[in-house]
Amino acid sequence: MKISKKYYLGLDVGGTSFVAGIVDESYNIIAKEGISAKIGNTVDELVYNMADVSKKAIQKAGLSIDNISSWGICMPSNINPKTNLLVHANCFGWKNIPIYDYLKKHIPLPIYIANDANGATYGEILAGSASQYSTALMLTLGTGVGGGIIIDNKIYAGADNMGAELGHTKLMYDGALCTCGQKGCLEAYCSATALIRAANEAVRKEPSSLILSLAKNNENNINGEIICRAAIDGDPVAIKLLDDYTSYLAAGISSLVVIFRPEVIMLGGGIAHAGDLILKPVNQKLRIYTHAGDEIGVPPVICASLGNDAGIIGAAFLEKIM
Ligand SMILES: [Zn+2]
Repeated sequence: MKISKKYYLGLDVGGTSFVAGIVDESYNIIAKEGISAKIGNTVDELVYNMADVSKKAIQKAGLSIDNISSWGICMPSNINPKTNLLVHANCFGWKNIPIYDYLKKHIPLPIYIANDANGATYGEILAGSASQYSTALMLTLGTGVGGGIIIDNKIYAGADNMGAELGHTKLMYDGALCTCGQKGCLEAYCSATALIRAANEAVRKEPSSLILSLAKNNENNINGEIICRAAIDGDPVAIKLLDDYTSYLAAGISSLVVIFRPEVIMLGGGIAHAGDLILKPVNQKLRIYTHAGDEIGVPPVICASLGNDAGIIGAAFLEKIM
């Protein structure tokens, strides 16, 4: 029996793990394989691992490379489409790597690469919570704040693919220090790391806070889930933390709304698991903070739905838009 080329190979490259999936034309992941990435490996070693996990996913699906249309990859990086150089991949410490040359030695398929947050946003618009929309933004609220922009069903990443860094939009002049070296970025206020840092400072001033007892009196145990639980239980410190957090987030989103007026804004990452606890105040505040929010209205802020699969599906279908 001849199997037609109706499968797509998507690889989601994270700082700590690589996950490859085989995706069918209806966006179902029919097989998935993962591997942990070791930071500090050479480019050769990491690229070998990227290819190896991808080949294993093909095998797991019971397919051969002849059944696969292309190899799409989402990774935390910026690749200049004019030079095909991976200009920058912070988590691996890579600069100006001819990444396509490395990759094509391993898998003889057309290769497409996008930034991870852009790819995940694309995955959500294909098959996730934005599937009924064509223009959408996403913010992933985790260790940092990733951002993706989709305009008319296509990834928008600016000149030379160096834009869409929504986490590094400026929320505050001379504000809190960001991981990027700048001050006052959205990420410095709206990442999970920023929320936890604010909670640590708050419980030092208010040690009677429920946050600290839920964290077994150890500041190092404080995480987003504990802060949310304390807020649900009425802890005033946690309520104030989330009130500030959602104000920062709504303010940051309002700037994006004024520029893009997307149909929807998705939140992904660990903090988005808090659901309505975050969504409700953010939606309310967004309307208040946004220019002409009452007259024009504001797009809904919703949770992304595919989790880590968004990157695999987005990567797999990059060939449709690149
Ligand atoms: Zn920054």
